[in-house]
Amino acid sequence: MGAWVGMAAAPAHGKTKSGHSSSSAVRPARLAVAVTVMAVLLMVVLFGARWTPSSAGAGDTSWVTAGARVVINAVSSGQQGADPVVKVAEVHDRLLGGLLSPDFNDSSCLSRYRASLYRRQSFHVLSSHLASTLRRYESLHRLCGPGTSAYERAVARLRSPSSSNTSDDDAAAAPPSECRYLVWTPHAGLGNRMLSLTSAFLYALLTGRVLLFHRPGDDMRDLFCEPFPGTTWILPEDFPIRGMERFGIHTRESLGNALGRGEGGGRAPPPWMYVHLRHDYTRGGASDRLFFCDDGQDALRRVGWVVLLSDNYFLPGLFLIPRFERELSLMFPRRDAAFHHLGRYLFHPSNTVWGMVMRYHGSYLARAEERVGIQVRTFGWAPISTDDLYGQIVSCAHGENILPRVREPGSSNATAAATTGARQPATRKAVLVVSLHGEYYEKIRDLYYERGAAGGDAVSVFQPTNLGGQHSEERLHNQKALAEIMLLSFSDAVLTSAASTFGYVSHGLAGLRPWVLMSPVRRRAPNPPCRLAATIEPCFHTPPHYDCQAKTKGDNGRTVRHVRHCEDLSDGVQLVE
Ligand code: GDP
Repeated sequence: MGAWVGMAAAPAHGKTKSGHSSSSAVRPARLAVAVTVMAVLLMVVLFGARWTPSSAGAGDTSWVTAGARVVINAVSSGQQGADPVVKVAEVHDRLLGGLLSPDFNDSSCLSRYRASLYRRQSFHVLSSHLASTLRRYESLHRLCGPGTSAYERAVARLRSPSSSNTSDDDAAAAPPSECRYLVWTPHAGLGNRMLSLTSAFLYALLTGRVLLFHRPGDDMRDLFCEPFPGTTWILPEDFPIRGMERFGIHTRESLGNALGRGEGGGRAPPPWMYVHLRHDYTRGGASDRLFFCDDGQDALRRVGWVVLLSDNYFLPGLFLIPRFERELSLMFPRRDAAFHHLGRYLFHPSNTVWGMVMRYHGSYLARAEERVGIQVRTFGWAPISTDDLYGQIVSCAHGENILPRVREPGSSNATAAATTGARQPATRKAVLVVSLHGEYYEKIRDLYYERGAAGGDAVSVFQPTNLGGQHSEERLHNQKALAEIMLLSFSDAVLTSAASTFGYVSHGLAGLRPWVLMSPVRRRAPNPPCRLAATIEPCFHTPPHYDCQAKTKGDNGRTVRHVRHCEDLSDGVQLVE
C-alpha cells in the first residue's frame, strides 16, 4: 500500500469584521471541509480504523484514527501556507517513499536498500518537506564536506582566524556564504551515541550546518555506512581542534562558560564553540542548557565550527526552541515519528555488521511466522533479582498475549504434547532474546522446552550473544551490539526494558510501539509488569528543565504541546502526537 496524499493549501478565506464568513468565502471553506472529510475517509481506508487516543492538548480526550490525525495535521499545516504532502512508503519501496537518496552504489552498503525488507511495513507518513530537506542537505554536504575547497578554507579560518579575509570586526566568523559545521563526538554506549547523533543531525538540518563525525578511536570503524552520497561525514584526522572526546563542563570554549563571561552573540564570534550536552550539563551556574534558549542559539548562529559532545537524545529539546517550531512542524507532521525517519535515513550497518545480521536471521529467524523481540537491560540504579525480572518478563509476555502460555504440568495436553512432534505446529514463533546476560534466555528457552506452548505453537528461543558487560571502546563489541539492534528491529512485537537507549533505537527503527518492562519498585517487579508505550519516540533523559523567559528552573514536560514527560523515566521528556 502506498499513497501520496497531497492537499492544496486551504484558501485563505477572509472573515468579515463581525467574524462571519463572507459569502465568497463560504464555497472554498465548504470545499476545504469536503476535501478534508474525503481525505480522512481515504486515510481510514488506507490505514484501517486504528483508533488511538489523541494527546493533542492537556486534558484533550478526543479520539481519532491515526491516519485521520495525519490528514488533520497536514491540513492544518496547509492552512499556514505549508507544503502538506505526506506519504506512506510502498511495500518494498527501496527508497522508503523518498527518505533515502537513490544516488548510492548498492554493493558499497548492502543494508541501505535492503534492511526495510526484513521489517514490518512502516505506516509512519513521511512529509515531502522532510524528503526535500534531506536532498538539499546532501547537496550542502557535497559542497562543504571534507576534501572540498570550502572545507579547506573553513579549516584555515579555524587554524588562523586573523588570516581570513573578513573584516576586523568579524575576523573569526564565517561569512554568511561560507560553510558552517557541527562536529559530533561519540560518548557512552552505542544506543546513546546513535540517539545523540540523530539529534545532532536534526540540529544541523535546522541550522544549515554540515555534520561531521569525529572518530577518535577504533571503536566506531566499520560500523555504519556513509549516509550522504558522494561525500564523507568522517572528520579528517588532521582536524586542528584536539582532544574533543575529553571536553566537559569546564571546557573554556563551552557555550555556557562563554555566556557566563558575557561573551557570545557579539559582532566577533569566536572561530569555534563547544556545546556540552552530556547528562551532567544542567549542573552549575553558567550552563549549556541555554542551548535550548534563543540566547544560546543567537550566540552560536555565526560561529563557523560548533563542537558537540552528548550522550542524550536531545532532539525533543529542539522542539522547545521557538525559532525552529515552524520548520519542525513541516518536517514532521507526526512529531512522534522523528527518530523513526531520521534513524532509518542515517544508520545503515556496514557490510561486516550486515553479514552478521543476515547470517543470524537466515539461520534462526527467517522461517518463523512471527518474531518476538525481548530486550533485557539491567541498570545499577534500578536493582531487581534475576528471578523477579524473569517473572516480570513472563507475566508481561503471557498477560499481554505476546507469547503463548505454557501447558500445565500433568495436564492431558502435556501427554498429547509427547506426540506433537508428528503434528504441524499452529504457528512457528521465534523469540529473540537480546541481553548482556544469558540467564533470561536460558529460562525462557527451558520454559517452552519443558512445558510446551498451550495452544500448540512451536516456540523457539534464541540469543545471539551474552557479552557479560559493556565494552563500548571495542569495535567488535559495538558491531555485535549494532547487529542485535538491527535483529530486534525486525520483530513483529517487542518487549523492552524501561529507559534503555539500546531498546529505543531498535523499536524506533522498527516503528513499533514496544511493551515496556517498567522499572522495579523497591527491588521488586511493578504491577502491572509492563505497559504499551504511548509513542515510538525515545525519551530525552536529561532535558534542560529551564524557563528561558523567566531564566529560572522550569518544567519542560509542560512547555510546548508536543513535548511531554516520558512514561518510563518521569523526569525525561519525549515527543508525542
Ligand atoms: P543503554 O545503556 O541501555 O541506554 O544502551 P547503550 O547502547 O547506550 O549502552 C549499552 C551498551 O551495552 C550497548 O551499546 C552494548 O555495547 C552493550 N549492551 C547492552 N545490552 C546489550 C545486548 O543486549 N547485546 C549486546 N550485544 N550488547 C549490549
